[in-house]
Amino acid sequence: MKSQDIRSNFLNFFKEKKHTIVPSAPMVLKDDPTLMFVNSGMAPFKEFFLGNAEPKDNRIADSQKCLRVSGKHNDLEEVGYDTYHHTLFEMLGNWSFGDYFKNEAIAWAWELLTEVYKIDKNILYVTVFEGDKEDGLPMDQEAYDFWKEYISEDRILMGNKKDNFWEMGDQGPCGPCSEIHVDIRSDDEKAKISGKDLVNKDHPQVVEIWNLVFMQYNRKANGTLENLPNKHIDTGMGFERLCMVLQGVKSNYDSDVFIPIIREIETITNKQYGKNEKVDVAIRVISDHVRAVAFSIADGQLPSNTGAGYVIRRILRRAVRYSFTFLNQKEPFIYRLIDVLSNKMGIAFPELKSQKHLIENVIKEEEYSFLRTLDQGLVLLDRIVKDSKNKIISGEKAFELYDTYGFPLDLTSLILREKEFTLDETGFHVEMKKQKERSRAASQMSTDDWIVLSEDTKEEFVGYDTLEVNVQITRYRKVTSKKDGEMYQLVFDLTPFYPEGGGQVGDKGYLEDTHGDVVYILDTKKENNVIIHFTKNLPKHLNETFKAVVDAKQRHRTEANHTATHLLHQALREVLGDHVEQKGSAVHSKYLRFDFSHFSKLTVEELRDVENFVNARIDGKLPLIEKRNIPMQEAMDEGAMALFGEKYGDSVRSVRFGQSIELCGGTHVKNTSDIWHFKIVSEGAVAAGIRRIEAITSDAVKDFYHENNRAFYEMKDLLNNAKEPVKALQNLQEENSNLKKQIEQLLKDKAKNIQGELINELTEINGVQFLARQLDLDASGIKDVSFELGQQFDNLFLLFGTSNNGKALLSCYISKELVSSKGLNAGQIVKELGKFIHGGGGGQPFFATAGGKNPKGIDQALEKAKDYILK
Ligand code: ATP
Ligand code: MG
Repeated sequence: MKSQDIRSNFLNFFKEKKHTIVPSAPMVLKDDPTLMFVNSGMAPFKEFFLGNAEPKDNRIADSQKCLRVSGKHNDLEEVGYDTYHHTLFEMLGNWSFGDYFKNEAIAWAWELLTEVYKIDKNILYVTVFEGDKEDGLPMDQEAYDFWKEYISEDRILMGNKKDNFWEMGDQGPCGPCSEIHVDIRSDDEKAKISGKDLVNKDHPQVVEIWNLVFMQYNRKANGTLENLPNKHIDTGMGFERLCMVLQGVKSNYDSDVFIPIIREIETITNKQYGKNEKVDVAIRVISDHVRAVAFSIADGQLPSNTGAGYVIRRILRRAVRYSFTFLNQKEPFIYRLIDVLSNKMGIAFPELKSQKHLIENVIKEEEYSFLRTLDQGLVLLDRIVKDSKNKIISGEKAFELYDTYGFPLDLTSLILREKEFTLDETGFHVEMKKQKERSRAASQMSTDDWIVLSEDTKEEFVGYDTLEVNVQITRYRKVTSKKDGEMYQLVFDLTPFYPEGGGQVGDKGYLEDTHGDVVYILDTKKENNVIIHFTKNLPKHLNETFKAVVDAKQRHRTEANHTATHLLHQALREVLGDHVEQKGSAVHSKYLRFDFSHFSKLTVEELRDVENFVNARIDGKLPLIEKRNIPMQEAMDEGAMALFGEKYGDSVRSVRFGQSIELCGGTHVKNTSDIWHFKIVSEGAVAAGIRRIEAITSDAVKDFYHENNRAFYEMKDLLNNAKEPVKALQNLQEENSNLKKQIEQLLKDKAKNIQGELINELTEINGVQFLARQLDLDASGIKDVSFELGQQFDNLFLLFGTSNNGKALLSCYISKELVSSKGLNAGQIVKELGKFIHGGGGGQPFFATAGGKNPKGIDQALEKAKDYILK
């Protein structure tokens, strides 16, 4: 059965069981501080399980993109070495939100596996939760009794909390689970040891394929469990593992999900899969990682230096490292796999097709820059090796390579081994541990449980229509972090404060109670569906009604920038073309930033056209027309731009100004004329194929013109109030360049004159014409003089020192004849004498210079020069 059919059979099966089929949610999470990426099928539905939101359907099935590379579920280091863990994988899932429970979940799983997919039931094992004393939980007898109807009891195994109690994170919904395992070993192997003894023992052919989670508890911050209001089913089946089983192969990588990618890697690198273990690991790593990186770029998460972007960058770098080391690839090539990948998976995940060029460009650029870094690292490693006296490289040095050049320990030690050097690995790990402790200390944060004041959990955002409203606090909690100290998070019954999102910053403002006591709201953020207000102090009278007031000035400026961002987006597509897609945006009160796909620098004319386009719409006084809570389809029919990144259950809001229609939850001016004016202040590249524009509006534009005006008058003043300042400046520049030329000529003449003087000062020592002295010429003057003298003597040794602006320079000239007859080396000499002037340098054996920051040391260096010819 082909992987395409395996996926659709799953979805069709559950469709027949009255499930609504929904597309995968984006893998990169927006509003969840506890999770960077979706790491299981249930993550996008977390709010439904917690009871913070209600799903439209209580039975759903899907195939969810998951990424397990950070946090509680991190499989990154396994990937490549085993044959059944991936970074990115698809999790097939069926869901019941307060509807069916264990009975149906177990019956349907069995029916699908044994009747639809026709898996032989004699290769299946199931597990049941054995109970746990610490949590006071009994064995899951209920599940055991259901299973017993389908499978012989010797194939039902008891599992502990680690394997059979599923938790998403340290907090949140959880419950006992039943796993289904397959044993795909040969009969010979089965005769030697029973599959029963290999379940959950990391055997590559006795693996878990499906986990049925019976969600019935919520784990609180203090570790205790409470019952969830409703019981749910959450199942997750590894799609790639299922393909392995149904296609009768022994490794996920031998299924048709991976084979086309592996064949392409073989063709490009001229290496064969299946011949050499190290090459195989590398090929598995690359074929896995290219999927993770491509999907995350398609989801809008580009590689970067922080947060989720940094995780993606590290995954790609891991792939480059393996291809560099084991496949001998010194040029970018991973980006060339995207073609095969998007052909293979583009039907189920259209974002791969529509963003193919961007994905290729970004990966190629990342590969280039990391390969360059690796090159620099290699040079540095060479130097470390050369300077080493005892053939041992310290852990500190290896850590520096790792930390600044991304040089992992295995690569460093491989190279060192080739050179017959050893590495202090223990020292490396000590440094690593120190750094981990440093960053842990910096990011430490503890979050208390919510203190609930009112059971009313409906929280309404009223900030589109008003900036001031009476509210009640429904719950609060304390959060302590190294960075911010103690802070309080408050949730209201309704709120005018806009929570950070869609690029727009969160509102600030204050709360005031009836006694006149005020606490300031320093920021507003959204956590899943809950709007959280941050304060430094807890209000005194928590149960009272408060007047909640948004900082109107900041909000209005932010709104002007947000509306201008929409107009800018429209302008860019108009001026540059339809290929322009939004890739990121930041809307602050002082400026806006917009990242978009485009392949070349914008010309001055294009920038002007874009500005004019936006300003024409500001002058056009276009009113805001918004539609709240409409279904996605309605917005699309209206002409809103199709965006990836919405997930099941999201209702949308459309925001329209003239012909600009976008899906947007942000706040906007009521009329474009409120923006007053739009001005681009910078344009540049952020990544391959991604440009960034920064711009300002309203008051900021006024400030900008005032500032420019002031600078202009200051300049005019300096030009003695010239009537035509530009011309005056040009004259000055011309005059300046003439003077420069004159000085150069004068210096040349001076050098000529000085030659005679220098010849007189030469002394003969050991058959060498020697001179070491201070010389008041610039670097090129000294070089000229040295080479002129060199033409007249073939046994010359010159060392000149000069100082200028607090900097010192040493130049050494040695006739080529002396270099070979006496083994003298100017490069070596200036390197050694450089220490007197606190600097260093180098060059060739017959001429070299050193720069330093201690002119006082020049005399000492000059004095030492004689030693070289006395030797
Ligand atoms: P394992 O013990 O094999 O790592 P798990 O207990 O971490 O699996 P779950 O969290 O229960 O797995 O996830 C549900 C299903 O997703 C598993 O039964 C498996 O088929 C699949 N799965 C889990 N992790 C991965 C991975 N890294 N790559 C591919 N499939 C995976
Ligand atoms: Mg796991």
